[in-house]
Amino acid sequence: MSQMTELPNCSFTTSYLKCSDSHSSNFLLQVDLYVCLLCGSGNDEDRLLLCDGCDDSYHTFCLIPPLHDVPKGDWRCPQCLAQVIQQTVKVRLKVIFYFVGFF
Ligand SMILES: [Zn+2]
Ligand SMILES: [Zn+2]
Repeated sequence: MSQMTELPNCSFTTSYLKCSDSHSSNFLLQVDLYVCLLCGSGNDEDRLLLCDGCDDSYHTFCLIPPLHDVPKGDWRCPQCLAQVIQQTVKVRLKVIFYFVGFF
């Protein structure tokens, strides 16, 4: 049981930047996640919308049509919205078939 193994060639101060251990790479990956999928930029972070369905990010001004304000509460990207609409249509069809069969 040797949990406190020292990393070779890494001083205490530079280990965070220079060592490619799993912790620092995970950290970088998490930061890189918050980029707009449409323009690939992480700028204008206060205008980045995070989809509640798939965790993708989009700028309000990159959307078609663009949004003027950041929506409050849940927001879903166009792809997730399309899925929700498809599901809603399917549910409605089921309801219609149910009533057709019932009467
Ligand atoms: Zn963008
Ligand atoms: Zn989504």
